[in-house]
Amino acid sequence: MARRKVDHLLIGGGLAAANCARWLREEGGEGSVLLVGREFDPPYNRPPLSKGYLQGKESREDVLFRPDEWWAEQDIELMTRTSVMKLDPAERVATLSTKDEVEFDKALIATGANVRRVRVDGCDLEGIHYLRAFGNSDAIRVDAEAAERAVLIGGSYIGCEVAASLTAAHGVKCSIVMQEDVVLSRQFGSEIGRYFQDVLEEHGVEVHGGDELERFEGSDGRVSRVVTKGGLELDCDMVVVGVGVMPDVTLARSAGLELGESGGVKCSAELESSAPGIYTAGDICEYESTIHGSRLRLEHWDVAFNHGKTAALNLLGQGVRHEVLPYFFSDLADWASFEYVGPGSGDLVVRGSLEDGNFTAFFVHEEEGHVVSALTVGRSDDLEHARRLITERTKPTPAELADEDTDLGEV
Ligand SMILES: Cc1cc2nc3c(=O)[nH]c(=O)nc-3n(C[C@H](O)[C@H](O)[C@H](O)COP(=O)(O)OP(=O)(O)OC[C@H]3O[C@@H](n4cnc5c(N)ncnc54)[C@H](O)[C@@H]3O)c2cc1C
Repeated sequence: MARRKVDHLLIGGGLAAANCARWLREEGGEGSVLLVGREFDPPYNRPPLSKGYLQGKESREDVLFRPDEWWAEQDIELMTRTSVMKLDPAERVATLSTKDEVEFDKALIATGANVRRVRVDGCDLEGIHYLRAFGNSDAIRVDAEAAERAVLIGGSYIGCEVAASLTAAHGVKCSIVMQEDVVLSRQFGSEIGRYFQDVLEEHGVEVHGGDELERFEGSDGRVSRVVTKGGLELDCDMVVVGVGVMPDVTLARSAGLELGESGGVKCSAELESSAPGIYTAGDICEYESTIHGSRLRLEHWDVAFNHGKTAALNLLGQGVRHEVLPYFFSDLADWASFEYVGPGSGDLVVRGSLEDGNFTAFFVHEEEGHVVSALTVGRSDDLEHARRLITERTKPTPAELADEDTDLGEV
């Protein structure tokens, strides 16, 4: 067992840790940086795994956070296929799966999230996929080449995006089975969800809402049918399950870090955990949002990216609060895409036309009347106005927001 010392130990080889490493260098940090990640691949972006990469439009190199040689050029030590097994915040020592011990001055924990699994009869059959990592997307692509029919379990981002990708790029006939009545309605309500469901259905995706998975059936060890509690029997050659993720706080919990209400690691506006000098970022980070006056934990690419930067500045002792408005994006093949700023929901006000696929959905706080979030389709210009309205807690009337003659810049 070897023992060594680094200035900055970054745990988790995902986007949050990778962008933290980048900003340590961009901000002029000269200390030693060790990034330890469990996966086979160096850090990469996950969004293309259900979109361009799954469709075969983007290559592995396109998806990587940085080219392979970049890490050495930046003098960042990258250890892939290695887990941090134990973290002692008081002694400031981490134990790796290689049995080596690493003493650190400051650390980042960005261990991301794991997919929720369904435990029903037949769940171990071949051809049932989950989607989180490069290898999952590769396996789905291989199956899609031979498949005629796929069933997607879950009507959230993964279910919708994968249905669109498999239909558009692989010619697979897709059916979505979900508990909610309308896709994406848990995120944006039924009216906005209906817009996206119409887009999917217009392109041939079948949507079965208000139902639930009962079991999988198979032949020769491979899935061949999905049976629902509502009595549907859907023949298929493959299944992709997208029923959410859970923050991976195994290491943080065993290290004694305080956890928050959403199951993430509770931390300050500076992203510092309950252990001084240990920061968190990305999907596990439940931080105090000064913009919203509440604690937030969001599983968004952009949040992980920006957390990584804030954490880097604070590892360098700058003491900055994380004050970036959360942003999310999604594509359904080339059929529709949206951008979303701010967390939370509220009363819906639509500006523009759902029918024409050109609108901004504002969500307004039910009691206090300020704009809390906004989703745009085909109207990126509204996004900047929405950012300002949310940050300034502006209280326009619903009529002002909806009226296309109102200049949002003047509100
Ligand atoms: C298919 C897919 C599509 C998505 N599309 C979108 C999108 O369109 N828009 C959007 O905003 N967001 C999207 N997301 C979400 C976004 O990718 C995540 O929010 C983001 O990747 C989170 O980054 P992270 O660094 O916090 O965690 P992760 O990317 O999960 O990285 C954490 C890493 O830490 C590793 N790890 C865990 N424990 C240890 C340990 N003890 N030691 C070492 N390593 C460890 C894990 O193996 C993992 O590699 C998508 C996600 C997926 C899976």
